[in-house]
Amino acid sequence: VSKGAGKSQWRRYQPELHTTIVEQLELRAELDHAIHNNQLVLEYQPIVRLSDGHTAGFEALLRWNHPTRGRLAPDAFIDVAEESGLVVPIGEWVLKTAVEAARTWRREHPTGAPYVAVNVSARQFRTPGFVRLIKRELAGHGLPPSCLMLEITESLLLRDDEQVWDDLAEVRRLGVRVAIDDFGTGYSSLSYLRHVPLDVLKIDRLFTGTIATSAQQRALVDGIVRLAHTLGLEVVAEGIETTEERDLLRRTGCPYGQGFLFSRPMPLPAALRWLRLKQLAA
Ligand code: C2E
Ligand code: MG
Ligand code: MG
Ligand code: MG
Repeated sequence: VSKGAGKSQWRRYQPELHTTIVEQLELRAELDHAIHNNQLVLEYQPIVRLSDGHTAGFEALLRWNHPTRGRLAPDAFIDVAEESGLVVPIGEWVLKTAVEAARTWRREHPTGAPYVAVNVSARQFRTPGFVRLIKRELAGHGLPPSCLMLEITESLLLRDDEQVWDDLAEVRRLGVRVAIDDFGTGYSSLSYLRHVPLDVLKIDRLFTGTIATSAQQRALVDGIVRLAHTLGLEVVAEGIETTEERDLLRRTGCPYGQGFLFSRPMPLPAALRWLRLKQLAA
């Protein structure tokens, strides 16, 4: 990019559009490597109760410390992981690591310990043995199932796959909670919400980012929150960046939120420090 290039020009240049098949293959090979070379790390972003700032949970978010490209966000490699099937071993590592982290902060804060929310791709969820893996990880770390939340996407539900429904129900019977991520961005059909075994609805940051400036968006969010309450679902608003957004959400009755206003995703030691500070302040 030339020095004089304006911000908008810079934004319009999207490197991913230039990715060739060769580069994809390269990335795939490197990703395979990454799993075995400790290049993957998790960061944890607090999920906060809006009424009083209490930390209800942390979402585990994946990063890749790439040897030459630096730290990569999941958007840069999750598609490749998904298409290649590597998302299965990666997801296994994520689950294991996240459960270990939850175990760690539970040791320090035995009462009212936050849960850990783990993103699960559709492919990973549909892998035979996924429910067994969850049981094994929880049992292996002596962690109650209420400490774990799975974040799934609408794409998993759109297939109308009986096995998926059964597995979701079984996971919830264990006491693990299930959240639908990025709600409102996909081909949401509201009808599935009545049937699918779910506990939490996460409002995508697309909505959060516009409530302060658009009355229409505010009305939409209001509607989503009320819908969720009617269906007995918990709500988490994603991507809260300003106090104004937080206050507006609080006023609509949205109980939980997450976003840079509270904290960016952070490595485990920083998440533990965050919890200690909150405890001191309480
Ligand atoms: P997500 O699950 O919706 O996660 C929230 C994303 O929003 C994260 O991006 C987080 O860093 C970002 N975020 C949080 N607060 C704010 C805010 O206030 N403002 C803005 N602008 N952004 C905020 P991240 O970490 O880049 O992750 C992107 C997506 O990658 C995630 O979206 C999730 O779908 C996926 N992902 C992350 N970790 C995993 C994983 O372990 N497995 C799978 N399958 N997918 C993952
Ligand atoms: Mg998520
Ligand atoms: Mg989301
Ligand atoms: Mg998202």
